[in-house]
Amino acid sequence: MRIHHLNCATMRPALGPTMVAHVLLLERPDGLALVDTGFGTEDLARRRRLGRPFLLTVRPDLDPAETALAQVKARGFAPSDVTDIVLTHLDLDHAGGIGDFPQARVHVHAREHAAATTPTAREKARYVAGQWAHGPRWTPHTEGSDAWFGFASVTALDDDVLIIPLPGHTRGHAGVAVRRDDGTWLLHAGDAFFHGGQLDVPARCPASLTAFQRLMAVDNRRRLDNLARLQELAQGRSGEVTVICAHDKAQYDALRTEISPGTP
Ligand SMILES: [Zn+2]
Repeated sequence: MRIHHLNCATMRPALGPTMVAHVLLLERPDGLALVDTGFGTEDLARRRRLGRPFLLTVRPDLDPAETALAQVKARGFAPSDVTDIVLTHLDLDHAGGIGDFPQARVHVHAREHAAATTPTAREKARYVAGQWAHGPRWTPHTEGSDAWFGFASVTALDDDVLIIPLPGHTRGHAGVAVRRDDGTWLLHAGDAFFHGGQLDVPARCPASLTAFQRLMAVDNRRRLDNLARLQELAQGRSGEVTVICAHDKAQYDALRTEISPGTP
């Protein structure tokens, strides 16, 4: 399986570092899969649907060349080659691209699907229902008794792409673990953390990002619990698992050229 690293949304918040939306494009034997999607073409065409507060504070570039659709095509694939999309959660900067691949199954944790489609008053503000107005082929997942390095897990695609529940940022937030051909794992931890330094000992993170993460969490205690577990995983299993988050530009820059075997 070849893994491509895409940035599907550059964001330049007034406070804090420039951020990316780190998306994985997986070339699997039976089709392409995306892990997260960034913004989609409809978000760019009708940017007001993203909401004024988001546009003014997060300041996304909204560059057509950064959409997953454009980057899939730029690599010589057809949009219909994308058979599956696995989402860490349904916040607007992760789910916007699903409308560009209406034929794909959209895998997400069942609790996140419930949060986004039947949100509480507080949750309503963060989701953009228009991003799934096309009626995606939802494929909600609930964890069973499977375990992955001590975390609960649920198979999304064969045994190579797993959903790892990491609630806190949102109700059903999850990481997505992808097995590389050499047997090591890449864990895309979504918004479970925002800065690679949060996995260091001692952890470090710009103050603005620390405050933002607390503000955005629906359950801050669980978020911090899961962050501690991710730090332990990253420290203890560094040879077996690479842990990344969605928005750290340095992590993305370090991996963008690490396209696994065979890709020019
Ligand atoms: Zn995000």
